[in-house]
Amino acid sequence: MKVAVFSTKSYDRKFLEAANAGGQHELVFFEPRLNLETSVLAAGFPVACAFVNDCLDAKTLRAIAQNGVRLLALRSAGFNHVDLAAASDLDLTLLRVPAYSPYAVAEHAVAMILCLNRSIHRAYNRVREGNFALDGLLGFDLHGKTVGIVGTGRIGAITAKILQGFGCSLLGYDVSPNPDCEALGMKYVPLQELFGASDIVSLHCPLIPETYHLIGALAIEQMKPGMMLINTSRGQLIDTKAVTKGLKSGKIGNLGLDVYEQETDLFFEDLSNHVIQDDVFQRLLTFPNVLITGHQAFFTEEALQNIAESTIANITDFEQGRACPNQIDLAKFKK
Ligand code: NAD
Repeated sequence: MKVAVFSTKSYDRKFLEAANAGGQHELVFFEPRLNLETSVLAAGFPVACAFVNDCLDAKTLRAIAQNGVRLLALRSAGFNHVDLAAASDLDLTLLRVPAYSPYAVAEHAVAMILCLNRSIHRAYNRVREGNFALDGLLGFDLHGKTVGIVGTGRIGAITAKILQGFGCSLLGYDVSPNPDCEALGMKYVPLQELFGASDIVSLHCPLIPETYHLIGALAIEQMKPGMMLINTSRGQLIDTKAVTKGLKSGKIGNLGLDVYEQETDLFFEDLSNHVIQDDVFQRLLTFPNVLITGHQAFFTEEALQNIAESTIANITDFEQGRACPNQIDLAKFKK
C-alpha cells in the first residue's frame, strides 16, 4: 500500500525501510508533523503513518480522510493524541504498536532514578570543570526504600521487577492489579496511601480523562517530604505548575521527566538556536534536582526495530483484510 509516513527522522526511515525490505508497501517519508497544514501531503495515500506528537484532532482527521486516507497506522502505543470520536465517525481504521519494548521505557525510568539520586548529571559537569567537591551530591541507598508504581501494566511491571532487584519495597496502584507484580511482593494500596508512603513514585499509567493531572496540588500535599517523582508515561499526567511549586517548597526532592505537558512544540527537534518561549519549561530547567529527557525512553535499537516491524505487519493485515490484534475498537467512541 502507499503509505505517507509523517514525523520522519533518519532513524525511523532506517528501521521502517529494513522492515519493509520485501517491498510490500510503498513508503513515502515526510519530515513534517502531521497536522491540518501538512494533511495535504497525504493526498492519494490510503495509509497515513503517525507518531506521538502528530496533531490528530478532528480537523486533521477530516482532512486526511477527504484526501483518501482509510488507515491511520500509529508508530506508538499511546493513542491519547487521536480524536477517537472523529476517527470513528470518519470510518478510519486505527492501528497502533501496543508493546514494542517495555524494557526500553522501564530501564529509562530506572536510569532517571539512579541519575537523580546520585546526581550523576551534576557530577559529570563538575568533573569536566575540574571540580571534585562532593557537597550537594549526597544520595541515598535505593536498598530498603519504598517505590510506588502507578500503572502496573507492561512497563510498570518491568520497572517494579528491576527495582525489586535493588532491594526496594514495592507499592502499586492500578485499576486492575497485575498478578505478576503481586508475585514480586508488590502491595496494592489506594493512591493516597501510595503517595504518603513512597520515597519514589514512578508513573506508568495511560493518559485518559481519569488520569489527567493525576499529580496536582492535592497529590503533592499527600506525598512524603523530599520524595522523587518520575514520569516516563505522558506529560499531562502531571500539573507542571503544581510540581514546580512542590520543587520550590522541597516537598518534591527530585523530578525526572521524559515527557512534558507541552512537549509538542519542543521535543524531537533541535531548538538550540532558538529562544524557547515556554517559561514553565524553562523554570524547570533551573532546578539542580530536575532531570529532563526529550521523550527518549522508547529509543533503543530493539524498540525501533519492533515498532517498524509491527507497523509494517499492521499495514499488511489491513491490506489483506485480516483482523489485526493491534486495532483500536472505535465503535464505542461513535458520537
Ligand atoms: P499498559 O496498557 O500495559 O499498562 C497501563 C496500566 O495502567 C494498565 O495496567 C492499566 O490497568 C493501568 N491503568 C489504566 N487506568 C488507570 C488509572 N486510572 N490509574 C492507574 N492505572 C491505570 O501500558 P504500558 O505499555 O505499560 O505503557 C504505559 C504508558 O507508558 C503508556 O500509556 C504510554 O503513555 C507510556 N509510554 C511512554 C513511552 C516513552 O517513550 N516515554 C513509550 C511507550 C509508552
